[in-house]
Amino acid sequence: MDSYLLWKKKACKTHETKQASWLVQKILKAKQYMTDVGANLDEILDKKNITINYIYKMLKQDHQKMPWRKLICKNGGMPKWIFILYVAIMGKLATRDRLGRWGITNDLLCPMCNEEEESMKHLFFKCIYTTTIWEKLLQWMNVNRRLMEWSQEIEWACNNFRGRSANAEIYRIALVSCVYYVWQERNHRIFRI
Ligand SMILES: [Zn+2]
Repeated sequence: MDSYLLWKKKACKTHETKQASWLVQKILKAKQYMTDVGANLDEILDKKNITINYIYKMLKQDHQKMPWRKLICKNGGMPKWIFILYVAIMGKLATRDRLGRWGITNDLLCPMCNEEEESMKHLFFKCIYTTTIWEKLLQWMNVNRRLMEWSQEIEWACNNFRGRSANAEIYRIALVSCVYYVWQERNHRIFRI
């Protein structure tokens, strides 16, 4: 039964069946992925040399490459740091301005300075607390420029430190660790954990 189901075209034309083994059922389910991306199964099966690379590229499809991908993908920092940077770049950190809009909190003050409303733009890097840290790190890396808004900081890093040089590696790690530990400290002040 299994060998029958696995036979190329027959497998593609076979519907899922509970009689088949777990492995065969997985193979049969895979054809749904191919159909979903608009692949022509008959055309694929007619090819003489079909490779995993070909299938992968077909499933992956072409998407616009995000300019910040190298900050994330070529970052030597710890995975948990990179995850927080990714969430920050996507603008999804649960800062108090967002929590306020969702009706979760009425306290919108930044827990670091207790002076202004907490938002992504404030935290990175307009708050006096985080500004001091990031300025010190820039000085340490011999980067002489004014601090910029969050989106500009990311854009600047992507344009100036995307290579494989030691300076670029250090800059990316400094940025990702700074964002992570600022967020940790902010959470610590709120939740006392
Ligand atoms: Zn602040």
